[in-house]
Amino acid sequence: MGEIGTLYIDGAWSTSSTGETLVIRDPSSQDPVGEVSAAGRDDTRSAIRAAANAFPAWAARSGAERAPFLLRVRDLLLEHRDGLAATITAEMGKPLREAWGEVGGAAGMFEYYAEEGKRVGGTIVPSYVTNRRSHAIRQPVGVVAAITPWNFPLATVAKKLAPALAAGCTVLLKPAEATPTIAVRLFELFERAGLPAGVANLVTGLPSAIGEEILSNADVRLITFTGSTRTGKHLMKGAADTMKRIALELGGHAPFIVFEDAVIDDAVQAAYTAKFRNAGQVCVNTNRLFVHESIADDFVAALKELVESKVVGPGADDATDIGPLVNEAALHKALEHIEDARTLGAQVVTGGHQLSGGRFEGGYYCAPTILRGAKKPMRIMSEETFGPVLPVTTFTTDDEAIALANDSSYGLAAYVFTQDARRCFVIPERLAYGSIRVNNDTGDGIHAPFGGVKESGIGLEGGPWGLDTFLVTKSVSYQI
Ligand code: ADP
Repeated sequence: MGEIGTLYIDGAWSTSSTGETLVIRDPSSQDPVGEVSAAGRDDTRSAIRAAANAFPAWAARSGAERAPFLLRVRDLLLEHRDGLAATITAEMGKPLREAWGEVGGAAGMFEYYAEEGKRVGGTIVPSYVTNRRSHAIRQPVGVVAAITPWNFPLATVAKKLAPALAAGCTVLLKPAEATPTIAVRLFELFERAGLPAGVANLVTGLPSAIGEEILSNADVRLITFTGSTRTGKHLMKGAADTMKRIALELGGHAPFIVFEDAVIDDAVQAAYTAKFRNAGQVCVNTNRLFVHESIADDFVAALKELVESKVVGPGADDATDIGPLVNEAALHKALEHIEDARTLGAQVVTGGHQLSGGRFEGGYYCAPTILRGAKKPMRIMSEETFGPVLPVTTFTTDDEAIALANDSSYGLAAYVFTQDARRCFVIPERLAYGSIRVNNDTGDGIHAPFGGVKESGIGLEGGPWGLDTFLVTKSVSYQI
């Protein structure tokens, strides 16, 4: 890292006041690919102060006046799409194709919220009294701290910063320590798009010092977080002291249910994508596959063939379908889940081991794995694996499928494959999940609500709901 530093506070780049830095490594080789400043508490306090100072002027602009900035960011993201995708792949390992899609998705979020931000209105409330009038007005909540994960290091940032800025909030971003460089690139684009000083601030570094300041500083009025349920609970408890609002997108343990009347080819393709995209490192990815007993053998055979046709390797290789895991701990967790399931009676259909040597040398590779005969208390049936390991279980009745699917402390995404119209309506109503995908593996885009129930989180992202997170409703009554 040069003298300039990667903290962006009050419209200027700086190094950390502690002088500390963090080296970023490519998970496909462990080669260093960058270095960033590691912010301390003082830097974080300065960033919050800058956001608080910038808030009144940014909040006073109309949505229409804020929109051009967001649209310029959209344009710049698309203009620099290839380079940004390469940065994502270098830092966290996903195949370039997926990284390229992520940049496009992030651009779409800035576009969507540029438009949606213009439509924030209020309500005229019918008064109970003749000489009174009553309005409910919606205004930005204040300074927002956004804390984001490494698995979608640009999209999760865009999903928070685009609506926060569109709503008139000012922000402080703490990106994941594994993937700060893509956030630095985004802030360079913010600067080029004409970001007013202090409206968005970036603190790269380790979570402890930054997190403590965010929690204790009363100027932060909302924490929007995507990451593990464990950290989400810590933030929720810490936010209580200054009564900050919280929006939490946490872990998941998605069931994928295939009924006997499903279009098998479609379900197999979707089961592959919903499990193995981003090497299984997605909170909405399938953690448990439930397939009707009558079609289980054919289904698993077809899925095995598809999985074995895929290329595992460095994300930067064009041929790669499945990249490495993000770090050593992630690899160990996946291998431990496989070993635990095997010990408790699961059969390995394909994979089941680490990949090493040759193009895998130095990388954190787990072979794409399918396990049959999965059941509780195997850890994989209740803990998030966050790796390319798919446990398969059979069922015979709809009630059994629902009971198995709902047997989780999480409630983020669920997948249902059936051609039966009644099931299409009724099964989602019975699933305790926030995002249910019937006969598709992706869900809808940024215009649709997205959020979890149970221990998967609080609040919604996407659509007008994603903007509401950053707004407070005030009641104003007028005596006339
Ligand atoms: P994961 O286990 O997938 O890395 P985490 O919840 O640990 O998920 O991390 C998600 C984000 O939360 C990262 O930006 C990380 O630095 C941040 N984070 C982790 N612990 C804390 C904390 N105590 N305070 C604030 N942020 C934290």
